[in-house]
Amino acid sequence: MSDKFSFSNLDELQRWHQGIKQANRNNIFCHCRTCGYEWIDSTFDVICLKCSSNNVESISSWQFPDD
Ligand SMILES: [Zn+2]
Repeated sequence: MSDKFSFSNLDELQRWHQGIKQANRNNIFCHCRTCGYEWIDSTFDVICLKCSSNNVESISSWQFPDD
């Protein structure tokens, strides 16, 4: 085994980890249709933090244009 070979593997592994990190970092903008409460969550499977309604609109922050 050469050092070059293992280094190349590590580089690939780090890129793979970075991709997962970015996916996990996605913020979901949530808006409750029942009480109108708005908050940021990290999952689409949410219930309202205020009224516990599951009638919640969720929008990924990456769908918004960057300012
Ligand atoms: Zn609510």
